[in-house]
This record gives sequence, C-alpha cells and structure tokens, in this order.
Amino acid sequence: MIIKKLPALFEPARPVLQKIENAGFEAYFVGGCVRDTILGDQIHDIDIATSAYPSEIKAIFNRTVDTGIEHGTVMILDHGTGYETTTFRTESGYQDYRRPDKVTFVRSLAEDLQRRDFTINALALRENGEVVDLFDGLGDLKRRLIRAVGDPHERFNEDALRMMRAVRFASKLDFVIDGPTLKGIKENAPLLSKIAVERTRVELEKLFLGQNPPAGLKDFLETGLYQYCPGLANAKPALSALLVTGNGWHLQNTDQVWGLIVTQLGLTGNALDRFLKKWKTSNDTIKQVKRIVPVVSALHQHQLDAELMFKAGWSALRDANQVARIYGWQMAAADLENAYKALPIQSGRELAIDGRTLITVAGIKPGPALGKIIKQLTQEVVTGQLANDRSQLLQRASDLKQEEG
Ligand code: ATP
Ligand code: MG
Repeated sequence: MIIKKLPALFEPARPVLQKIENAGFEAYFVGGCVRDTILGDQIHDIDIATSAYPSEIKAIFNRTVDTGIEHGTVMILDHGTGYETTTFRTESGYQDYRRPDKVTFVRSLAEDLQRRDFTINALALRENGEVVDLFDGLGDLKRRLIRAVGDPHERFNEDALRMMRAVRFASKLDFVIDGPTLKGIKENAPLLSKIAVERTRVELEKLFLGQNPPAGLKDFLETGLYQYCPGLANAKPALSALLVTGNGWHLQNTDQVWGLIVTQLGLTGNALDRFLKKWKTSNDTIKQVKRIVPVVSALHQHQLDAELMFKAGWSALRDANQVARIYGWQMAAADLENAYKALPIQSGRELAIDGRTLITVAGIKPGPALGKIIKQLTQEVVTGQLANDRSQLLQRASDLKQEEG
C-alpha cells in the first residue's frame, strides 16, 4: 500500500526521515499516527523509528537533545519543530509484568514492530508514503479488529497494561477485540493489579473519552479487568447500567469522566474523596468532581437553583450538563448559559462590599462571625432576596450583626 498524500502534519517531518535515509539508515513513521492516517482520523503527533543508533542520529543532525537516550530516544531540532526519533529496539525480561528489564537496540524494523501491542499499531510508514505491514494490520483496520501481535497470553504477561490499552482502543476506535485476544485478557486480567494506577487511569479515561465508550466499558467489565482497579471490585452492576445508554457520550475532559463514574457509583462526601485519591487523580479534579456531582443530581431532580449554580461555577455547570446528557437529564446549553448569566453575581468578588468595608464601616470584628455574615449576604444576593448594592448590603450587615448579638 502506498499513501499518495500524507496529512499535513507529516510534511515538515519528511526531510528528517530523508536525511536519515540518505545517511544509509532506515526511518519510518510508526504507531498511532500511521493507524489514524489510514483510518482517515485526525492525527495529533507523530512517532519516528529508525535503524540508526542514538549516537548515529546525533552525528547526522546539528541540534539534538537526549530526551530518553537509554530508551533510544533523541529529539532532533534542526527542522524547526522538534522531532523525537527512537532507535528500533526489542524488549525482554518483564519480570514485573510491566517494564522490560532490558531494552536492546536492533537494526531490523521487523523486530521493532514485533514488540508492539496490536497489529493496527504495528504499521510503519516510509517518508514516500509506502506502508510496511508485517502482521496484517491493514486487514485488521479494514475488519475493525484489535488483535495482539503474536500470542496474546505472552504479550499480556510481558506487559499487563496492554489489556487496558485493548479495551480503550475498542472504545477509542469503535473496534472489536479479536476472540483470542479477548480470551487472553480474561485469563490474565489479575495481572493488571501490578500496573501503576496512574497508567491504568490514563487508559480508563481514554476509554470514557472514545468514540464508543459502552463498547470499551463492556469489554472492561466482561473481561474482569474492573476487578483489579481501585474501588471498582463491586462496581459491575452500577457500571453495567451505563451500557444501555446510547454510544454518543461525547465527554470532553477527564473531570467529566470522573464526574460520570462517581455519579454512577453514587459516591459523595468522604467516599468520593477516598475513591478519587485511590485513583490518584489531581486535587483539581477532586475539587471539580465535587462541584459537578451535586449539579448532575440537581439536573436529574429538576432542582438546579441559583445557589447551586453560583457554588458550582460555570465550568462545573458545563461539565455536569455534559455528564447529565448521557442520562438524558441535561438542559439545553443555551438555557443553562442564560440561567447562569442571569445570576445577580457569579463570584464572591462581585459582591458590592468586601470584608474590609464590613470591618471598617459596619464595625464587624474579623473572625468567624464576619465570614458567616459575608456568606449570608452572598446567599441573599445570589437568590435575589437582596440587591447587590453597597448601602443595602451595609444595612443588612448591621442587622445581621445585631441578630448575632
Ligand atoms: P494514541 O493515539 O492514543 O497516542 P498510540 O497508538 O499512538 O495511540 P501511544 O501510547 O502513543 O499509543 O504509543 C505509540 C506506539 O507505541 C503504539 O502505537 C504501539 O505501537 C507502541 N506501544 C505503546 N504502548 C505499548 C505497550 N504497552 N506495549 C507494546 N507497544 C506499545
Ligand atoms: Mg501516540
């Protein structure tokens, strides 16, 4: 197969490959960028593999950076954009089911492609558009199949993360996992517990952000992989309930992903915190999910009010609405935006009075009482009980101070 017109992203990289070839070595585009080009999907980055050793690459180009030289990766800066090239390699060892004990540089493309996970990811593309396909990856792209390169059992024993990659590609590409590969996952699922949770998390997030999440989720559940994930051992019934939703989830970011998972598991309060901590999500994600979840539930109950919208803020409202869409609980985007814009204030900073004024003008002492009064004023303004007007706020603050005694 020859691809006549390569996507624009490849163009500026072609001279890099040509230069390596002119020096007597081989160089190819490899991995996801080749797969996605043949599928006609958008590509976001390109990977280059070469028979040249790192020292040889460094001799060919003027400006390079050793970004991962022990793995064979060198960044070439001669052509504007930096391009990372990785020397063909084989991997061996995998004592711990996750990391090869030893990486060996080799001169043969075939050996490099053989260590890759799935046939559709083991295609190579020459600078002139020629595709090298040693494992019928092109046939599998046509058949829309995810198939391990070689013996699935062996491949999942080498690196258990590949099982999560299989289910995420099932969703990402809307492909089916080939029978023996699926069987290999079922038999080796417990090995997933050896994998660092951060790496499993990234794959799960990509699954939820793919083209057909219910398809990937079904495989994730049926193979038993979920049992070896933090906090999901008993989650099959709850997560299975998501399989009946249509496949148009269109989640846009990982906060929405976790908002959905947590909603579906019915987690709130400390349980929510503990669950996300086990998955090692960022603190920002935990914060955002805590804002998203109550909004999703309010949308469900048709009880989204001014106070909750104010508390959540626009980004969590938007995220929550996207999650709610999966259940059919969403508001029309324009209605939500208008409702939010109609709030008298959208943040505490917009309150026509600040703490310092309350202390100096209204004579309120700094401390918990001050905080309480500000909270009360904010709530009354947000809900429209009180105008956001300096003198009215001052008056109300004095009243509240009296009440406090
Ligand atoms: P994406 O579009 O999500 O980036 P990708 O296929 O490019 O998909 P990467 O994780 O960027 O995925 O990996 C690049 C390539 O490296 C893969 O296409 C595959 O050939 C190889 N690869 C990545 N991870 C593994 C793994 N765990 N085992 C074997 N090969 C792998
Ligand atoms: Mg990639």
